[in-house]
Amino acid sequence: MDRLPVQTNYTAKMGRLLAEHFGVPVEELPDRLDNHLLRVDISYPRPVNEDGTIEFDWWGAGWDTRTEGYWHSFAPLKDSRDLDRLAWPNPEAAGLLDAAVRTISARGADTFVVPNLGMCLFERAWSLRGFEAVMMDMIERPEWVEELLDRIAASQIALSKRFVAAGVDGGYFGDDYGAQRSMLFSPRLWRRLIKPRLAAMFAVFLDAGLPVILHSDGDIRAILPDLVEIGLTTLNPVQPEVLEHIWLSREYGSKLSFYGGISTQDVLPTGNAEVIRAATIACARQLAPGGTGLLLGPSHRMQSDIPPRSGTRCWRPSMRQERVARLFKEKFGGEPALWSRAPGRVDLMGSHTDYNLGFVLTLSISRDTWVAARPREDRIVRLYSANLDSRESFDLRAIAVRGNSGARWGDYPRGVAWALAAERLPLGGFDGVIHSTVPIRSGLSSSAALECAVAVMFRALGGWEMSGERLARLCQRAENEYVGMNCGILDQFSSCLGRAGCALLLDCRDLSTRPVRLAEGIRAVICDTKSPRELVGGEYGARRARCEEGAALLGVRALRDATMAHVATLSGEVRKRCEFIVGENERVLAMSDALAAGDRGAIGRLCAESFAGARDLYEICSPSMLTMMEAMMAAPGAIGARQAGAGFGGCMVAFVETGKTDEVAAATSEDYNKKTGLTPEIYPVEAADGAALMPVV
Ligand code: ADP
Ligand code: MG
Repeated sequence: MDRLPVQTNYTAKMGRLLAEHFGVPVEELPDRLDNHLLRVDISYPRPVNEDGTIEFDWWGAGWDTRTEGYWHSFAPLKDSRDLDRLAWPNPEAAGLLDAAVRTISARGADTFVVPNLGMCLFERAWSLRGFEAVMMDMIERPEWVEELLDRIAASQIALSKRFVAAGVDGGYFGDDYGAQRSMLFSPRLWRRLIKPRLAAMFAVFLDAGLPVILHSDGDIRAILPDLVEIGLTTLNPVQPEVLEHIWLSREYGSKLSFYGGISTQDVLPTGNAEVIRAATIACARQLAPGGTGLLLGPSHRMQSDIPPRSGTRCWRPSMRQERVARLFKEKFGGEPALWSRAPGRVDLMGSHTDYNLGFVLTLSISRDTWVAARPREDRIVRLYSANLDSRESFDLRAIAVRGNSGARWGDYPRGVAWALAAERLPLGGFDGVIHSTVPIRSGLSSSAALECAVAVMFRALGGWEMSGERLARLCQRAENEYVGMNCGILDQFSSCLGRAGCALLLDCRDLSTRPVRLAEGIRAVICDTKSPRELVGGEYGARRARCEEGAALLGVRALRDATMAHVATLSGEVRKRCEFIVGENERVLAMSDALAAGDRGAIGRLCAESFAGARDLYEICSPSMLTMMEAMMAAPGAIGARQAGAGFGGCMVAFVETGKTDEVAAATSEDYNKKTGLTPEIYPVEAADGAALMPVV
């Protein structure tokens, strides 16, 4: 695993603030926050009192609707201990799990679904009877409390069994037993009243081979051995102010995993970026010293006292930075001084149009390549690629000219140095770690991301200025002439000039670009067939040659200048290839309009035409791509789908209704896997900014 999974929960009010902050609908937040745990609930009507100030839960307890969360305001057993008079809910009722079952069947590959069995036992008892009252009952009439708890536990067990049968991945129970400095009541009483019943509830999941998460706030050190004994797998929320992380890890690290850890009492509401980052890193180091065993997140649902910025900026980038900084120390010693990044890209329309000097609509994606570097006194460049676990180095005074076949990954950064040196730009040596989340050789252009991130680093270290356009062209030159891969300008332009929130319409003749703001409600989803391709030379070169032949026969400089009427005069393979390019070029402009307007009908039609042409005319579709196309289009919520990159396997792209990405991913993945035996990787992407230095958060 390259990073720790994260999980950010929030109250309804905080959810609205976060959604506003990101500019996405609330239902997209889990995805946007990269959440891995999905809690499913029972569905039931939630009645309110006359003036709407109290909402009643499934068990009949009332909650104040004017607060952000947890203000208890009605206890049905307040005035009577007659348990038979309470209208106990029926855990076997039909329909209770309908919504949960839908979610479970649509879950994505990275999602872990658990039932939300919050307020499961002690909390359920006090919510029915009243907090003070039940505390008194526990002393004065523990037998009655046992009876109450037995009834609650019976319901929870029945519900748990239904959830297990519905296919959840584990159990999630919530029950607070701790206050800030001690247990709420004695461990002895807990062992008598709570432990046996909680054990029976855990057992439903454990017996099915599933893990169990327990959320309990407060200082519950006294009962941790008991929780381990009854089979607890994961402890939440490990508040740093009450359970010291170093101690927890030393005493329980081999017996429990942890979930939570970042303080919502202190760090998140009050800390600046630096404080949050330091707390996040400390938490990860202490609770996951081996790099696993922690689902990192706030130590409670975030409430609106946390600035949305603080709640979102912290761990995702910082975890990756922490990992890369650690690698830097390991490989070179000390710390990196500068960081650069450059995104991969996916073409939304316009396959193979770039070298025909036509149009392409491209998206710079939220997957990118980083270079973390420290300048050297000499002119040596030493690099370590975390993705390939491989070192390369070269001397800037002796960069061999040409003749390299791209056989070594070092040829890409070395080629960039060569192209920049040819412009007489001063270059300085550095030690650098490369870390990329762009899949390599899958058609999302990891090569351009690497080149552009390296070029930006040379520019920063050399202290010279250069526009993104020119930098992109030099990177292309590096790949064309040094690596020997005859790619068009698309990849490098996209990596250098992308803009968050927009696709980029690129005219490959005059190299002008226009941002195309994408309509709300549609997301691009990458569907990686996981069938890799080989492209340097081979088929790619052959396609390019046919296009040049066609242009020569037609007497135009490039196919960009040809029309369908022209193409009709050609014959054979050249005609087929040219027909695709001319049609595809027209589709790029139409697709830009369709995506900007959110015209789903046009998007679907253009994608279908593009794919049909790629399959029948340009012949760049592998069998796995045909299968993936079928799977993508059969998924409910898919608007359109097509090839991406150069074809011959690798990634494809689907356009999906926002909010349906999980469902589309699940359905596509299952269908494709059934037919090919391959496990595809499917994930939504966002439009990211182009290559630049990166602030260290
Ligand atoms: P893509 O479609 O991903 O651009 P290419 O074949 O054009 O595929 O480029 C992939 C090559 O780029 C790799 O084989 C490797 O040499 C180089 N490369 C890309 N990313 C990295 C990385 N993170 N570390 C080292 N080399 C990389
Ligand atoms: Mg490439």
